[in-house]
Amino acid sequence: MNYKKICKAQLSKLKFRLGLNPLIQPLVPNADKYIPQPYKAVCLISADFELAWAPRYSKSCADPLQKAIRDGLQTRENVPKILSLCDKYNVPITWATVGHLFLDSCQPVNGVKHPDLPRLPHFENKYWKFAQGDWFDYDPCTNLKTDPAWYAPDLIENILAAKAKHEIGCHTFSHVDCRDSVDEGEVFQAELMKCHQVAAERGLTLSSFVHPGHTVGHLELLYKLGFSSFRSDYGDILGYPAKHFQGLWEFKNTAGLEWRQGWSAAYHVYRYCAIIDRAIKHNRVCVLWFHPSFSSRFVDSVLPAVLQHLAARSKEITCLTHADYAGFLSARI
Ligand SMILES: [Zn+2]
Ligand SMILES: [Zn+2]
Repeated sequence: MNYKKICKAQLSKLKFRLGLNPLIQPLVPNADKYIPQPYKAVCLISADFELAWAPRYSKSCADPLQKAIRDGLQTRENVPKILSLCDKYNVPITWATVGHLFLDSCQPVNGVKHPDLPRLPHFENKYWKFAQGDWFDYDPCTNLKTDPAWYAPDLIENILAAKAKHEIGCHTFSHVDCRDSVDEGEVFQAELMKCHQVAAERGLTLSSFVHPGHTVGHLELLYKLGFSSFRSDYGDILGYPAKHFQGLWEFKNTAGLEWRQGWSAAYHVYRYCAIIDRAIKHNRVCVLWFHPSFSSRFVDSVLPAVLQHLAARSKEITCLTHADYAGFLSARI
């Protein structure tokens, strides 16, 4: 590990100890309305569920396609373990799912992949560079058996069959950049309509959304398309949701669940449990999120203790899906 990463990990520990991270948002009017009785705090946990679709235009590695497939297969390894932990500790997760994962297979029509979907122009953002070719070039256009990193109806079924009452949310159909500056809304709308369609074919209604790569945009359209929440990432905040329009709720990220170099397993556990304790102490909403492609070390040596802690304090902090919490808020605020 390099010197810069060690410094960053140590600095982060110091900021945490001083209470500078996560930032505790000042009280808002009617603060008690945000917490269901008789609890003292709320915990939301969501997963950006995307398999190979997220990193295929990543700028952070030399071979993004290999990383994409590796992430997809790592997700397949982690999901059953995550689901069994959630069942054991009765913790529901909101799975913000890339729409393509609902498909068993796909094939080009007259040589064009997914011709019903309009394409983003070439663009670059903080994480990705899409500079040439067609947006769907990496789509193998085969099936679940041949390319299990690109299709996942089996995992969606496993999530729905679990004992814990998980929610299937939306993460666009093909993991597009959603910023207003990249697209006037045509791509965003078509991608979300397609997600509604493939979800409806499995009897599901989508109402919770997570913008890929934190590319928050098209909020009014999101609301009009039937969604009641999205997640934002403007620093680590232990606070309150913000209401947009008549009932589109913004849940502000508190902490990402991930394996950080320079931290021991024990420090990871200590830190996430302390965040939960701070949420209870200050009566705030704790928004945890993760990529299920994360290191199996996190799944094996951190996640069990964090979920166990949530279960141990379940009389004080309630774990809800995004849809359930948005429904609760809209009925009160
Ligand atoms: Zn496809
Ligand atoms: Zn994503």
